[in-house]
Amino acid sequence: MRTRFAPSPTGPLHLGHAFSALTAWQRALSARGIFLLRIEDIDHSRARLEWETLIYEDLQWLGLTWPEPVMRQADRMAAYSDALDRLWHAGLLYPCSCNRRDILAAASAPQDGAPLTGPDGIIYPGTCRAKHDRRGARPTEVALRLDMAAALKCIDEIAFTETGAGPSVETGLIAVSAEFMRTRVGDVVLARRDMGTSYHLAVVVDDAAQEITEVVRGEDLFEATPIHVLLQRLLGHPTPSYHHHRLIRDETGKRLAKRDDARALRLYRAEGKTPADIRELIGLS
Ligand code: GLU
Repeated sequence: MRTRFAPSPTGPLHLGHAFSALTAWQRALSARGIFLLRIEDIDHSRARLEWETLIYEDLQWLGLTWPEPVMRQADRMAAYSDALDRLWHAGLLYPCSCNRRDILAAASAPQDGAPLTGPDGIIYPGTCRAKHDRRGARPTEVALRLDMAAALKCIDEIAFTETGAGPSVETGLIAVSAEFMRTRVGDVVLARRDMGTSYHLAVVVDDAAQEITEVVRGEDLFEATPIHVLLQRLLGHPTPSYHHHRLIRDETGKRLAKRDDARALRLYRAEGKTPADIRELIGLS
Protein backbone atom coordinates (compact mmCIF):
# COMPACT_ATOMS: atom_id res chain seq x y z
CA MET A 1 0.00 0.00 0.00
CA ARG A 2 1.35 3.40 -1.00
CA THR A 3 -0.44 6.62 -0.28
CA ARG A 4 0.41 10.30 -0.34
CA PHE A 5 -0.42 13.72 1.02
CA ALA A 6 -0.41 16.32 -1.77
CA PRO A 7 -0.77 19.88 -0.45
CA SER A 8 -0.46 23.01 -2.58
CA PRO A 9 2.01 25.54 -1.11
CA THR A 10 -0.36 28.47 -1.48
CA GLY A 11 -0.91 29.19 2.21
CA PRO A 12 -0.36 27.73 5.67
CA LEU A 13 -1.55 24.21 6.46
CA HIS A 14 -4.62 24.25 8.69
CA LEU A 15 -6.55 21.69 10.71
CA GLY A 16 -8.14 20.27 7.54
CA HIS A 17 -4.72 19.49 6.10
CA ALA A 18 -3.64 17.92 9.38
CA PHE A 19 -6.70 15.66 9.24
CA SER A 20 -5.92 14.61 5.67
CA ALA A 21 -2.21 14.00 6.28
CA LEU A 22 -2.82 12.10 9.54
CA THR A 23 -5.57 9.99 7.95
CA ALA A 24 -3.25 8.98 5.09
CA TRP A 25 -0.40 8.36 7.54
CA GLN A 26 -2.59 6.22 9.78
CA ARG A 27 -3.91 4.16 6.87
CA ALA A 28 -0.36 3.57 5.64
CA LEU A 29 0.72 2.55 9.14
CA SER A 30 -2.15 0.07 9.59
CA ALA A 31 -1.46 -1.49 6.19
CA ARG A 32 2.34 -1.50 6.73
CA GLY A 33 2.39 0.72 3.69
CA ILE A 34 4.27 3.82 2.63
CA PHE A 35 3.29 7.46 3.14
CA LEU A 36 4.65 9.91 0.57
CA LEU A 37 4.63 13.66 0.15
CA ARG A 38 4.00 15.61 -3.04
CA ILE A 39 4.07 19.37 -3.37
CA GLU A 40 1.40 20.46 -5.87
CA ASP A 41 2.89 23.72 -7.06
CA ILE A 42 1.78 23.93 -10.70
CA ASP A 43 0.06 27.24 -10.00
CA HIS A 44 3.18 29.39 -10.19
CA SER A 45 1.24 32.56 -9.51
CA ARG A 46 0.17 31.31 -6.06
CA ALA A 47 2.81 28.80 -4.93
CA ARG A 48 5.54 30.17 -2.61
CA LEU A 49 8.71 28.56 -1.34
CA GLU A 50 8.03 29.90 2.15
CA TRP A 51 4.74 27.97 2.28
CA GLU A 52 6.52 24.86 1.08
CA THR A 53 9.11 25.18 3.84
CA LEU A 54 6.33 25.61 6.38
CA ILE A 55 4.62 22.43 5.08
CA TYR A 56 7.77 20.42 5.89
CA GLU A 57 8.00 21.99 9.36
CA ASP A 58 4.33 21.46 10.19
CA LEU A 59 4.32 17.83 9.03
CA GLN A 60 7.51 17.02 10.90
CA TRP A 61 6.07 18.63 14.00
CA LEU A 62 3.01 16.38 13.62
CA GLY A 63 5.43 13.44 13.64
CA LEU A 64 5.15 12.52 9.98
CA THR A 65 8.03 11.31 7.84
CA TRP A 66 8.22 10.17 4.23
CA PRO A 67 10.77 7.58 3.15
CA GLU A 68 11.16 8.76 -0.45
CA PRO A 69 12.17 12.15 -1.86
CA VAL A 70 9.39 14.72 -2.01
CA MET A 71 7.89 14.97 -5.49
CA ARG A 72 7.53 18.60 -6.60
CA GLN A 73 5.24 19.24 -9.51
CA ALA A 74 7.35 22.18 -10.67
CA ASP A 75 10.02 19.57 -11.58
CA ARG A 76 7.58 17.44 -13.52
CA MET A 77 6.65 19.57 -16.50
CA ALA A 78 8.30 17.18 -18.99
CA ALA A 79 6.15 14.30 -17.74
CA TYR A 80 2.96 16.38 -18.13
CA SER A 81 4.06 17.43 -21.59
CA ASP A 82 4.59 13.77 -22.62
CA ALA A 83 1.13 12.83 -21.38
CA LEU A 84 -0.42 15.75 -23.26
CA ASP A 85 1.45 14.75 -26.42
CA ARG A 86 0.04 11.25 -26.19
CA LEU A 87 -3.52 12.52 -25.79
CA TRP A 88 -3.01 15.07 -28.56
CA HIS A 89 -1.70 12.50 -31.04
CA ALA A 90 -4.66 10.27 -30.20
CA GLY A 91 -6.87 13.16 -31.36
CA LEU A 92 -8.42 13.64 -27.92
CA LEU A 93 -7.47 17.27 -27.23
CA TYR A 94 -8.36 20.54 -28.87
CA PRO A 95 -7.24 24.13 -28.28
CA CYS A 96 -9.72 26.44 -26.63
CA SER A 97 -9.54 30.21 -26.60
CA CYS A 98 -12.75 30.91 -24.66
CA ASN A 99 -12.59 32.99 -21.53
CA ARG A 100 -15.03 32.69 -18.63
CA ARG A 101 -17.32 35.31 -20.09
CA ASP A 102 -17.53 33.51 -23.47
CA ILE A 103 -18.34 30.24 -21.70
CA LEU A 104 -21.01 31.77 -19.54
CA ALA A 105 -22.62 33.52 -22.53
CA ALA A 106 -22.61 30.35 -24.66
CA ALA A 107 -23.78 28.12 -21.79
CA SER A 108 -26.64 30.40 -20.76
CA ALA A 109 -28.79 30.11 -23.88
CA PRO A 110 -32.22 31.29 -22.68
CA GLN A 111 -34.07 28.10 -23.63
CA ASP A 112 -31.74 25.98 -21.49
CA GLY A 113 -32.21 27.77 -18.16
CA ALA A 114 -29.30 28.05 -15.72
CA PRO A 115 -26.07 26.51 -17.01
CA LEU A 116 -25.15 23.13 -15.58
CA THR A 117 -22.02 22.95 -13.50
CA GLY A 118 -19.61 20.07 -13.02
CA PRO A 119 -16.36 19.50 -11.11
CA ASP A 120 -14.67 22.42 -12.93
CA GLY A 121 -17.54 24.90 -12.94
CA ILE A 122 -19.82 25.51 -15.89
CA ILE A 123 -19.89 22.57 -18.30
CA TYR A 124 -18.14 23.69 -21.44
CA PRO A 125 -20.64 24.27 -24.25
CA GLY A 126 -18.18 23.03 -26.91
CA THR A 127 -17.63 26.32 -28.77
CA CYS A 128 -14.05 25.52 -29.85
CA ARG A 129 -14.48 21.75 -30.29
CA ALA A 130 -14.68 21.70 -34.09
CA LYS A 131 -12.84 24.95 -34.77
CA HIS A 132 -9.27 23.76 -34.96
CA ASP A 133 -7.28 21.22 -36.86
CA ARG A 134 -6.05 18.48 -34.53
CA ARG A 135 -3.21 17.35 -36.78
CA GLY A 136 0.45 18.29 -36.54
CA ALA A 137 2.39 19.25 -33.44
CA ARG A 138 0.58 19.92 -30.19
CA PRO A 139 0.00 23.64 -29.78
CA THR A 140 1.44 25.21 -26.64
CA GLU A 141 0.61 28.53 -25.00
CA VAL A 142 -3.10 27.74 -25.39
CA ALA A 143 -5.60 25.93 -23.21
CA LEU A 144 -6.24 22.35 -24.29
CA ARG A 145 -9.52 20.61 -23.58
CA LEU A 146 -10.30 16.91 -23.54
CA ASP A 147 -12.86 15.93 -26.18
CA MET A 148 -14.98 13.91 -23.76
CA ALA A 149 -17.11 12.13 -26.36
CA ALA A 150 -14.02 11.03 -28.30
CA ALA A 151 -12.22 9.96 -25.10
CA LEU A 152 -15.15 7.83 -23.97
CA LYS A 153 -14.98 5.88 -27.23
CA CYS A 154 -11.45 4.73 -26.30
CA ILE A 155 -12.30 3.08 -22.99
CA ASP A 156 -14.77 0.52 -21.71
CA GLU A 157 -15.82 1.73 -18.28
CA ILE A 158 -15.15 4.25 -15.55
CA ALA A 159 -15.19 2.60 -12.16
CA PHE A 160 -13.20 2.76 -8.94
CA THR A 161 -13.30 1.44 -5.40
CA GLU A 162 -14.13 3.95 -2.68
CA THR A 163 -12.99 2.85 0.76
CA GLY A 164 -14.08 6.09 2.43
CA ALA A 165 -17.13 8.02 1.30
CA GLY A 166 -18.14 10.79 -1.04
CA PRO A 167 -20.26 13.79 0.04
CA SER A 168 -23.49 11.77 -0.32
CA VAL A 169 -21.93 8.77 1.44
CA GLU A 170 -21.10 7.03 -1.85
CA THR A 171 -18.93 4.04 -1.04
CA GLY A 172 -17.81 0.66 -2.42
CA LEU A 173 -17.63 0.17 -6.17
CA ILE A 174 -18.47 3.45 -7.91
CA ALA A 175 -19.27 3.26 -11.62
CA VAL A 176 -19.97 6.32 -13.73
CA SER A 177 -21.78 6.19 -17.05
CA ALA A 178 -20.59 7.68 -20.33
CA GLU A 179 -23.78 9.73 -20.39
CA PHE A 180 -22.87 11.27 -17.01
CA MET A 181 -19.37 12.08 -18.23
CA ARG A 182 -20.69 13.74 -21.37
CA THR A 183 -23.47 15.76 -19.77
CA ARG A 184 -22.26 16.43 -16.21
CA VAL A 185 -18.50 16.69 -16.65
CA GLY A 186 -17.91 17.65 -20.29
CA ASP A 187 -14.75 18.78 -22.04
CA VAL A 188 -12.50 19.61 -19.09
CA VAL A 189 -9.30 21.64 -19.47
CA LEU A 190 -6.18 19.44 -19.29
CA ALA A 191 -3.63 22.14 -20.04
CA ARG A 192 -4.19 25.65 -18.80
CA ARG A 193 -2.69 28.34 -20.95
CA ASP A 194 -0.76 29.84 -18.03
CA MET A 195 0.43 26.51 -16.58
CA GLY A 196 0.96 24.07 -19.43
CA THR A 197 -0.89 21.46 -17.39
CA SER A 198 -3.86 21.23 -15.03
CA TYR A 199 -4.65 19.75 -11.65
CA HIS A 200 -6.42 16.74 -13.22
CA LEU A 201 -3.60 15.83 -15.57
CA ALA A 202 -0.80 16.40 -13.05
CA VAL A 203 -2.45 14.42 -10.27
CA VAL A 204 -2.96 11.39 -12.54
CA VAL A 205 0.55 11.45 -14.00
CA ASP A 206 2.09 11.88 -10.55
CA ASP A 207 -0.01 9.28 -8.72
CA ALA A 208 1.14 6.82 -11.38
CA ALA A 209 4.79 7.91 -11.09
CA GLN A 210 4.69 7.57 -7.29
CA GLU A 211 2.94 4.19 -7.70
CA ILE A 212 0.14 5.23 -5.41
CA THR A 213 -2.27 2.40 -4.62
CA GLU A 214 -4.66 4.35 -2.39
CA VAL A 215 -5.44 8.04 -2.77
CA VAL A 216 -6.51 9.62 0.53
CA ARG A 217 -8.04 13.09 0.23
CA GLY A 218 -11.02 15.26 1.15
CA GLU A 219 -14.53 14.47 -0.06
CA ASP A 220 -14.53 17.75 -2.04
CA LEU A 221 -12.42 15.92 -4.63
CA PHE A 222 -14.77 12.94 -4.94
CA GLU A 223 -16.51 14.61 -7.89
CA ALA A 224 -13.22 14.97 -9.78
CA THR A 225 -12.34 11.28 -9.37
CA PRO A 226 -14.14 9.99 -12.52
CA ILE A 227 -12.02 12.43 -14.56
CA HIS A 228 -8.90 10.99 -12.96
CA VAL A 229 -10.01 7.41 -13.62
CA LEU A 230 -10.77 8.26 -17.25
CA LEU A 231 -7.30 9.79 -17.67
CA GLN A 232 -5.70 6.71 -16.07
CA ARG A 233 -7.49 4.53 -18.62
CA LEU A 234 -6.46 6.74 -21.53
CA LEU A 235 -2.82 6.88 -20.43
CA GLY A 236 -2.60 3.20 -19.50
CA HIS A 237 -2.08 3.76 -15.77
CA PRO A 238 -3.56 1.55 -13.05
CA THR A 239 -6.48 2.95 -11.06
CA PRO A 240 -5.72 3.17 -7.33
CA SER A 241 -8.45 2.83 -4.75
CA TYR A 242 -9.77 6.06 -3.27
CA HIS A 243 -10.43 7.02 0.31
CA HIS A 244 -12.28 10.33 0.48
CA HIS A 245 -12.68 11.66 3.99
CA ARG A 246 -14.89 14.18 5.76
CA LEU A 247 -13.88 17.83 5.75
CA ILE A 248 -12.99 19.81 8.83
CA ARG A 249 -15.42 22.68 9.23
CA ASP A 250 -15.55 25.84 11.31
CA GLU A 251 -18.26 26.48 13.89
CA THR A 252 -20.63 27.78 11.19
CA GLY A 253 -20.25 24.55 9.20
CA LYS A 254 -18.08 26.08 6.49
CA ARG A 255 -15.10 24.00 5.37
CA LEU A 256 -11.74 25.46 6.23
CA ALA A 257 -9.91 27.23 3.44
CA LYS A 258 -6.40 28.61 3.09
CA ARG A 259 -7.59 31.99 4.30
CA ASP A 260 -8.64 30.42 7.62
CA ASP A 261 -5.35 31.43 9.08
CA ALA A 262 -6.84 31.26 12.56
CA ARG A 263 -6.68 27.48 12.30
CA ALA A 264 -3.20 27.36 10.80
CA LEU A 265 -1.03 24.71 12.38
CA ARG A 266 1.81 27.19 12.86
CA LEU A 267 -0.40 29.25 15.19
CA TYR A 268 -1.27 26.23 17.31
CA ARG A 269 2.43 25.40 17.40
CA ALA A 270 3.30 28.93 18.49
CA GLU A 271 0.67 28.75 21.23
CA GLY A 272 2.39 25.69 22.64
CA LYS A 273 -0.23 23.15 21.56
CA THR A 274 1.00 19.59 21.00
CA PRO A 275 0.35 17.19 18.11
CA ALA A 276 -1.92 15.30 20.52
CA ASP A 277 -3.97 18.50 20.99
CA ILE A 278 -4.32 18.76 17.21
CA ARG A 279 -5.52 15.18 16.95
CA GLU A 280 -8.09 15.87 19.61
CA LEU A 281 -9.29 19.05 17.88
CA ILE A 282 -9.97 17.13 14.67
CA GLY A 283 -11.47 14.08 16.29
CA LEU A 284 -8.59 11.68 15.69
CA SER A 285 -7.48 10.92 19.21
N1 GLU B 1 -3.39 19.59 -4.07
C1 GLU B 1 -4.75 19.28 -3.72
C2 GLU B 1 -5.18 20.15 -2.56
O1 GLU B 1 -4.34 20.72 -1.88
C3 GLU B 1 -4.95 17.84 -3.34
C4 GLU B 1 -4.97 16.97 -4.51
C5 GLU B 1 -5.25 15.49 -4.25
O2 GLU B 1 -5.08 15.01 -3.12
O3 GLU B 1 -5.61 14.83 -5.20
O4 GLU B 1 -6.37 20.29 -2.34
